[in-house]
Amino acid sequence: MTRTLMTIGECMVEMAPGDDGRFAMGFAGDMFNSAWYARQVAGDGLRVAFLSAIGDDAVSGEMKSFIRAAGVKPLLSVVPGKSVGLYLISLKDGERSFSYWRSDSAARRLTDGLDRLPGLASGDWVLISGITLAILDDDRRARLLGLLSEAKSRGVLIAFDPNIRPRLWDSPEEMCRQIMKAAALSDLVLPSFDDEATHFGDASPEATLARYRAAGAASVVVKNGAGPVMASEGSFPPVTVHPPEIPAVVDTTAAGDAFNGGFLSAFMDGASLTDSIHAGCTVAAQVIGARGALVPVKGSRS
Ligand code: ADP
Repeated sequence: MTRTLMTIGECMVEMAPGDDGRFAMGFAGDMFNSAWYARQVAGDGLRVAFLSAIGDDAVSGEMKSFIRAAGVKPLLSVVPGKSVGLYLISLKDGERSFSYWRSDSAARRLTDGLDRLPGLASGDWVLISGITLAILDDDRRARLLGLLSEAKSRGVLIAFDPNIRPRLWDSPEEMCRQIMKAAALSDLVLPSFDDEATHFGDASPEATLARYRAAGAASVVVKNGAGPVMASEGSFPPVTVHPPEIPAVVDTTAAGDAFNGGFLSAFMDGASLTDSIHAGCTVAAQVIGARGALVPVKGSRS
């Protein structure tokens, strides 16, 4: 049976320095990255769509073509007079840092004009992140949660990666409150332990697991860098999966996004929680072994 995975968020122009100091233009953003990875490793039984908003300028059109060329269905409303966000990578002594121009991007209006999330039926999944929540103002964030609730009432399942970015929020309190609100609506939460420890004070991955389960999520998968992934689902006992050892970590950008794409494509195909985590780790391992957010990968199950 063909299922749909829809991710919702912001895709940006990426300017990445090459060895000669010149910048190469690409496109990336957490929720688009997850869609891109899911599309690469999933079979024909999965449709992958990306919902966002773009501007009416040339680079917005290029982004749409790029998304479509990746095999991901672009569901992009056009905001006249706006453009897409941009980030630039700086390299100093091998360390990457990021500068962003996204505060007035079209994606901040991605919910405008939407009465329901299009093209979804019972058994399909939607993936959002804490960044998706953070770029929306209060009214639009409430609208997004309303659209998700409506989809959920039709049997659509909701996945959420808290992807905590304090700089995008007005206050840490509001950030934590909104993240827990979205988690309460979610069927699956995919946090990364280091972020959760820093911003929620969790003492262990078990504590992160327990907090999101208590919020109402039926399944929680806690990523932890090179450490074991801890997860639990329904009333089954928790599982622990060790990611493969990486001989050379080149660039961890988008590791979590890649994990989400690999995990969800397997999970939606009926794989067990443990096998789905292996699928996520297999995709993430390839991504951190190469430079850039979007790296060609193979799935563990393909
Ligand atoms: P995020 O990128 O969201 O911070 P993590 O750093 O927790 O997420 O990493 C996500 C996944 O990427 C991990 O669960 C693991 O599979 C893989 N990963 C990340 N860093 C490493 C590493 N140093 N060695 C092996 N696997 C890693």
